[in-house]
Amino acid sequence: MTAGYRGRFAPSPTGPLHFGSLAAAVASYLDAKHHNGIWLLRMEDLDVPRSMPGAADDILQMLSAFGLSSDEPVMYQSQRTSAYEMALQQLKEMNAAYPCACTRREIVDSALHGIEGPVYPGTCRNGISSGREGRAWRVRSNDDPIAFDDFLQGRISQHIESEIGDFVVRRADHLFAYQLAVVVDDASQQITHVVRGADLLHSTHRQMHLQKLLGLPTPNYMHLPVAVNEKGEKLSKQTLARPADKSPETLFKVLLFLRQQPPDDLRSASIAEMLAWATAHWQPEKLAGCRQFAI
Ligand code: GLU
Repeated sequence: MTAGYRGRFAPSPTGPLHFGSLAAAVASYLDAKHHNGIWLLRMEDLDVPRSMPGAADDILQMLSAFGLSSDEPVMYQSQRTSAYEMALQQLKEMNAAYPCACTRREIVDSALHGIEGPVYPGTCRNGISSGREGRAWRVRSNDDPIAFDDFLQGRISQHIESEIGDFVVRRADHLFAYQLAVVVDDASQQITHVVRGADLLHSTHRQMHLQKLLGLPTPNYMHLPVAVNEKGEKLSKQTLARPADKSPETLFKVLLFLRQQPPDDLRSASIAEMLAWATAHWQPEKLAGCRQFAI
């Protein structure tokens, strides 16, 4: 039992839930419930151009078919703009954020390649050249290493400045960036444990950097293996992953995917029985060191 455990699942409604995101939802739920914790849902519907109409409701229905419902009202990022404005204001007042006039093309042309694409070369760090206008807002980074102990992946360290560069917190299209929103919302929902896919492992340091600047607590992190197809691509809308089937068999497959070794006689059990078994027997350490599994 962990006093005050608060976990969450935070899907982006870019399409219906596929097997990989369902596995992340189930794992975050099991970890919370195994610790007698609270489990919350947050709809990350901030990126309106990438959101798919109806997907948020589809996701909630799918989760509820698997017995996964939020212990508190679902938070929608699309309704949280004023909280993000306040956080950006705080960063501006500290001179921790600055406007950037660079286009994507200019950055690609002048940047070194980092772990997530071009490393921002700092062009606008000391001011925008005359005649140009700020498009996005970036946060200043530095090269002090940031490290954390991931429950499954061990100690993960990063130098943000040389591996990522100063990163965007408000995009040129005025939308707030995921990195800022997730930090503000995890703090606002008082999340103590973040359980999510290992595709976000290297975002964690940017989130910790923002938490430090904004005076917010850092939760515990557990990054799960992501589901990939036979070509090694993460299941997603782009790789045309099919929506998960709403059947007990799917949940059984999720437990196999999560290496929980469910007993064979659980195959014919109901969803509620499977969840109860998996909550009682949850052993995330079976996934230690794993970043991806093919399905
Ligand atoms: N919305 C993100 C996604 O669907 C997850 C964010 C998070 O768990 O921090 O990939």
